[in-house]
Amino acid sequence: MDILFHGVRGSTPTAHENFLKYGGSTTCTEILHKEFQIIFDAGTGFQNVSIQKDRPTYLVFSHFHYDHIQGLPFNYEIFDPSNKVTICSGLVSSKELREVFVRAFQPMYFPIPLVDTLKNLKFVDFSIVQEDMAKLCVLETIKLNHPGGAAGYIVEKNDRKVCCFLDHEYGQLEKVDKELISSANNCDLVIWDGMFLDEELPPKKGWGHSSIEQGVSFSDATNCKSLAIAHHSPARTDEQLKEHSNNLKSDKVFFAYQGLSHKL
Ligand SMILES: [Zn+2]
Ligand SMILES: [Zn+2]
Repeated sequence: MDILFHGVRGSTPTAHENFLKYGGSTTCTEILHKEFQIIFDAGTGFQNVSIQKDRPTYLVFSHFHYDHIQGLPFNYEIFDPSNKVTICSGLVSSKELREVFVRAFQPMYFPIPLVDTLKNLKFVDFSIVQEDMAKLCVLETIKLNHPGGAAGYIVEKNDRKVCCFLDHEYGQLEKVDKELISSANNCDLVIWDGMFLDEELPPKKGWGHSSIEQGVSFSDATNCKSLAIAHHSPARTDEQLKEHSNNLKSDKVFFAYQGLSHKL
């Protein structure tokens, strides 16, 4: 399966010249397998997702902060009624999920009533999606430490395992961290929230994000095969990210960039 990074920026898009190499689109990660397509979150990177017609497409939300939902109406393929997309979240029921998007894209914030317009989007409870997908892959959810809550996800298929842990504040809730470590043990890829540096963390306690250095510690603690740092700070330039990447004290940790296709 291919892991496609369509948006790796956190919080807000960046479109200036010093941010183009790692990319300015907000978070959207696709897991593309010949039998299914899973898309984690619809930040502005969602506009570059190609919705597959020959396999089921699941759009799975971690939570509903703007950087994770704002791209939903800007993928023009989603307006094609023949593109059927199942939407779910491990965080809320299908009814609550529908209400979130009705509210987020009501006329005060968006020109058309999006949910009523897109009849091809099917809101389904996460547990039903899990059952539905059971013959294709194992999809699990796990609690993350983030203001308002966030759901992490684990996908397993044919001895390949990917963990998507955006957005998460590491090092604050021991029980949550322990569960994340055990769920990511020996996995092939962890997608990590590397919004901050260690030195930036103290005044940002409670903001719900981890550091790049904590990603390295997490990769050691889990013995995962690789860990992709994502959800880059909108203040972090290409030059700075490159420098942090060169200084990484791990050869299995790498910085995700927009457009990266990672094969597993
Ligand atoms: Zn975020
Ligand atoms: Zn968030």
